[in-house]
Amino acid sequence: MTSMNDLLISGGDERTPGGAILMDGNRLRDEIVAKLAQTIAAVGSPPVCLATVLVGDDAPSQRYVRNKHVQAGKAGMQSRNEILPADAGQAQVEDVVGRLANDPSVHGILVQSPLPNGYDEEKVLSLIPADKDVDGLTSQSMGRLVRGLPGLVGCTPLGVIRLLERYGVATSGQRAVVIGRSTLVGLPLSLLLARKGIDATVTIAHSRTADLVDVCRNADIVIGAVGQAHLITAAHIKPGAAVIDVGISRTEAGIVGDVDFDAVQAVAGAITPMPGGTGPMTIACLLENTLSAARLQGSFPV
Ligand code: NAP
Repeated sequence: MTSMNDLLISGGDERTPGGAILMDGNRLRDEIVAKLAQTIAAVGSPPVCLATVLVGDDAPSQRYVRNKHVQAGKAGMQSRNEILPADAGQAQVEDVVGRLANDPSVHGILVQSPLPNGYDEEKVLSLIPADKDVDGLTSQSMGRLVRGLPGLVGCTPLGVIRLLERYGVATSGQRAVVIGRSTLVGLPLSLLLARKGIDATVTIAHSRTADLVDVCRNADIVIGAVGQAHLITAAHIKPGAAVIDVGISRTEAGIVGDVDFDAVQAVAGAITPMPGGTGPMTIACLLENTLSAARLQGSFPV
């Protein structure tokens, strides 16, 4: 049997103590951001603008939004942050998103989720035109993904695909298990992995899946998108498989992923750290999507 170690392009890449290739999201984010900056500068730096909408004072959300603006600056993009108090009300949030939707100087709109309790998030998202939907979350964007039409795809699922590409993980004909079926991560990621050109054979696991170990242990690629600390152990992983951790659990010891990294790195052929894996890639792909959005709107040369 071919192990994932044989399939990987490992030039200069770091390995874990157990010998797995470390799929470093910070490093790949920096590569993508530098490439975006080059691309924008090469055509005379036309304005490319990301707008974020932050409602309330949730500390992690504030941190995520701040990081997005820092990285947008590094990519040579403009960015705007609309901040509203938690009690702004549905009408005011809709008004802000509606104005950004109609503003031709704004190319991408991201409404930081979750909105505080009491807001109708679906209604807010429905105001974002598909060509500005850099989070890929609207029904139109999801519909395009299902139908295989060009469009903007969710940043976290796209970030996972970029990690697999960058680290040379073979996907065609390979067995992938995605644990989690949310519209934010698991479902769009499963669709992307099964897409023509990526061609994985995909299994979607969820909270009702019987015997998760049995489902995972023949997979070449295992992706955890659950949010349950250390759900995925060495017993779930075939030797040499690629393991990607999307889940985030906040514990007293800090941020912990779905993957028991210390145990799994000794078995896997490639593995993402948590933090430092999929999180930075989500931001990189948000910026990649913002440039794609500017192109879709005819504001940037194709
Ligand atoms: P979600 O909507 O809560 O979905 C979680 C999924 O996990 C559900 O499909 C659920 O199954 C499944 N699940 C729950 N317990 C399970 C178990 N014991 N075994 C197997 N499956 C189980 O969460 P989400 O929005 O997709 O986010 C998932 C995680 O990723 C969260 O920790 C979130 O914070 C993190 N996240 C990370 C990034 C990043 O950039 N790294 C970005 C977005 C989200 P059911 O459908 O049956 O309920």
